[in-house]
Amino acid sequence: LGGSLARALQKMSNSTIIDENVLNECLKEITRALLQADVQFKLVRDLQMNIKNIVNLDHLAPGHNKRNIIQQAIFKELCKMLDTGEPSFMPKKGKTSVVMFVGLQGSGKTTTCTKYALYHQKKGWKPALVCADTFRAGAFDQLKQNATKAKIPFYGSYVESDPVQIAVEGVDRFKKENRDLIIVDTSGRHKQEAALFEEMRQVSEATNPDLAIFVMDGSIGQAAYDQAQAFKQSVAIGAVILTKMDGHAKGGGALSAVAATKSPLTFIGTGEHMHEFEVFNVQSFVKRLMGMGDLSGFIDKIQEVEYQQPEHMLKILDGNFTLRMMYDLYQSMLKGSMGQALSLLPGLGAKLMRKGQEKENQAKIKRYMVMMDSMTKEGK
Ligand code: GDP
Ligand code: MG
Repeated sequence: LGGSLARALQKMSNSTIIDENVLNECLKEITRALLQADVQFKLVRDLQMNIKNIVNLDHLAPGHNKRNIIQQAIFKELCKMLDTGEPSFMPKKGKTSVVMFVGLQGSGKTTTCTKYALYHQKKGWKPALVCADTFRAGAFDQLKQNATKAKIPFYGSYVESDPVQIAVEGVDRFKKENRDLIIVDTSGRHKQEAALFEEMRQVSEATNPDLAIFVMDGSIGQAAYDQAQAFKQSVAIGAVILTKMDGHAKGGGALSAVAATKSPLTFIGTGEHMHEFEVFNVQSFVKRLMGMGDLSGFIDKIQEVEYQQPEHMLKILDGNFTLRMMYDLYQSMLKGSMGQALSLLPGLGAKLMRKGQEKENQAKIKRYMVMMDSMTKEGK
């Protein structure tokens, strides 16, 4: 999506006069880009209407930067679509909370449960995992393996087939053990079906969770809205987590899931590994969506790789970033874990940092460094 939206915006900035025609043309491009990214049709239409209402070209004084205003309007509207304004329930450390995960089979629930537990454990919580998936053979083993690896207490059964009973037993046990974040993993089915929703309703009623998190595969496309809404109707969803955002996910599902559940997107899964899990930030997401790059996310990443030259960060912030600093930055990235830091750098785009191509990426960066090495101080 980033690509096509960026192209639409680029088209706009290439034209010297911004009039009604250019705005319409631009809106058409953006509409196409959003639909291609699997944003639900109705949401796209709403967005288009809102932008037209906000941007009244006739009423702008000639001195105004119209491009900027249009771009800002799109940015704000996309942010508004993702920001429900209502904070989801926030578990409190030291106080028992029960969090139930729901979603279709294969969406990434079990993986995400452990990521969520681990994320909180690192921050000093005492999480615990309950496997209430008795539908899929091997479900308990999978959770057990994940939990053991992450050193998180777990509960489940190989023989009991009633998910409600296991959920209740597990939650009770961990309440007695004073765990402060009790996470209930549930079953899914391949399709949305009445039996699944009835099971979710029963588990929810029996365990009375403080928060139900809907987990959705970020790449499912136009089906996102209906799927999210169907779950919302059986369980009181309070938050959404999108998974597989590392793969071919186009981002549109995020807008649909938030709109359908009226719940905020709190985290995204960006890989199969336990640590590939990020707090969702609306503004960064929209900036990336629009191909604007994301300086704030970029800076976070650099701090993660223990960037050694903090004075450069200040220079980035005040716009005095030089090739020399870029060189140092590349160097420290080659040393540290590169993560996705580079994909966040405005202008570079995600292309440079494809997952699973770390070797190629490193080679690319080394090439850039060689190019820089051959430059004079004046950059020639
Ligand atoms: P569940 O059926 O909803 O419990 O889904 P699982 O947790 O078993 O995940 C299904 C598959 O998706 C597994 O192969 C996971 O490794 C994979 N998976 C989960 N989250 C992510 C993610 O964020 N990125 C990628 N690439 N794969 C994921
Ligand atoms: Mg599972």
